[in-house]
Amino acid sequence: MAKRNTYRADERLENPFNSRHMRRAFVYILRHLLEMLTALLLSAGGAVASLFCPMIVQHALDTAIPEKNIPQLLLMCALLMASYSLSVLLTTIRSRMMVKVSETIIYDIRRDLFAHLQLLPFEYYDSRPQGKILIRVVNYVNSVSEILSNGLINVILEIINLIFIVVFMLIVDVELSLIVLAGVPFLAAFLFWIKAKQRKAWQVVSNKSSNLNAYLQENIQGVRVTQAFAREEKNHSIFRDLASQHRQAWMTAVKYSNLVWPGINSISVIVRACIFAFGLVVFAGAKSFGVIVAISSYANRFWQPIMNLGNIFNNFINNMAYLERIFETMDEPVRITDREGAAEIGPVRGDVTFEHVTFSYEEGKEVLKDLSFSVKAGESVALVGPTGAGKSTIVNLLSRFYDLQSGRILIDGKDISSVTLHSLRSSMGIMMQDSFIFSGTVRSNILYGRPDADEKAVEAAADTVCAGDFIRGLSDGFDTQVGERGGLLSQGQKQLISFARTLLSDPAILILDEATSSIDAKTEEALQRGIRAMLEGRTSFIIAHRLSTVRNCDRIFYIDNGGIVESGTHEELMARRGPYWQLCTSQNTED
Ligand code: ADP
Repeated sequence: MAKRNTYRADERLENPFNSRHMRRAFVYILRHLLEMLTALLLSAGGAVASLFCPMIVQHALDTAIPEKNIPQLLLMCALLMASYSLSVLLTTIRSRMMVKVSETIIYDIRRDLFAHLQLLPFEYYDSRPQGKILIRVVNYVNSVSEILSNGLINVILEIINLIFIVVFMLIVDVELSLIVLAGVPFLAAFLFWIKAKQRKAWQVVSNKSSNLNAYLQENIQGVRVTQAFAREEKNHSIFRDLASQHRQAWMTAVKYSNLVWPGINSISVIVRACIFAFGLVVFAGAKSFGVIVAISSYANRFWQPIMNLGNIFNNFINNMAYLERIFETMDEPVRITDREGAAEIGPVRGDVTFEHVTFSYEEGKEVLKDLSFSVKAGESVALVGPTGAGKSTIVNLLSRFYDLQSGRILIDGKDISSVTLHSLRSSMGIMMQDSFIFSGTVRSNILYGRPDADEKAVEAAADTVCAGDFIRGLSDGFDTQVGERGGLLSQGQKQLISFARTLLSDPAILILDEATSSIDAKTEEALQRGIRAMLEGRTSFIIAHRLSTVRNCDRIFYIDNGGIVESGTHEELMARRGPYWQLCTSQNTED
């Protein structure tokens, strides 16, 4: 039950209006001011052109037809066609123009959002599910683009439309126009009621659908675990429940949506009936047939702009909440940045020093406590110790993925917080535990950190880490598509490719979070040879799980409780019979 509740925890879409966000949104709109003004003129032109049609019909009915004036009737027909065609033409040009504006706004916001997301620190990603970040970049940006591009224009346009309709109506006949206007309070009351119901109902649909999507996404990703634990039946029942809630919410929302037009039409029909009744009976003889038909036609058009304004307002309220989420993401501080006057780190030898480093992810919970050590250039260090001891934290701090609370980290005597992030990270090769492989070819993955490297360098890097043979054995060799997240490769193969990727970028300092997954003996041997090739001449920090890797290292740090409990070579530590020895013997890996 608790699990299901997490899928009910939707993003709160409240507090819709925020003038700061509105001002920011204007930055995106103002870039297209010229196109928008043109679109506005085109739309106004189209609207006016179409509003002449009822007047032309009125003249035809009252003058040309009774007088049997054929040339005038033909002229009226031609004018009618011309007004209509002009209106269609102008509206079409406007629509095309606005599609471009709207797509450009989507592009601009998405580009800015992505650029910012790339800079955000690990901390940001630690605390958010991927799905919620994705939905901001994809769905929310799509949703707000319409309101940003067409919203403002449409508001102005609908108001102009409404004014023109009223003016044209009044020109044709004042008394009959007042009958139309008398319908407005009834329409307003109806719209007020139905829109409130609709808004609530669609918000419920949006929540239910995000619950459904989140559950679906997680289950597709975790399908192996589901099958391994034979949870299919249970998951199926949770899914059925979520899907049925979604269906119910959808049906309620559609029920209200389906009431809108019949409601408006009823008011419209009653008003038009009144026009005919008053025109033909009350003002008998005073109003020509042409005038009655023309007013009835204007009355027919009168409701549309009011209705549209209601829709725009509704969309506006909904989308402001999305806009808030987007800008909130863009405002997320990029905590790890270059300090003022930060210099390039320059060519790196690889001496690494931690000086009294203290660090905590959350206030009051120190993960590293006054940690100090020095590693000489070219030395390889294995970090071992229990889970949660702080091994990954040490390497994360060295790459400056997080900033320290106190102490200093020096590379070749330079404080890493005083050099540019780009030059710092360019001097390092970092291999995470899940060797992330991007979709594309084997080659594009190896080239990831050094896109300009040539063919020979790619192959040499692959050969050095013993990955060349298996890659050449793939269906298209280096050009084989690896699938999303390297889904078509085995764990060991992914690791070998990520070794080649790291080696190609030729880092002075190497950080390797060794994967624990068990692989076959042959791949294990290839991996070990690969690792040895990479360590050659580089300062290396390896969070090692395999004894074979640990033994190859120059020094071993046994980490526990945020500090180094003991350090030395494998032989020294085994002789000392301390925690490292215990670890080895408990794993039964002692030789
Ligand atoms: P190890 O790599 O030795 O297993 P870590 O360095 O990953 O250990 O973690 C050290 C401690 O810091 C653990 O108690 C862990 O729960 C905590 N920790 C790790 N990452 C985060 C994080 N992003 N936010 C909060 N706490 C974290």
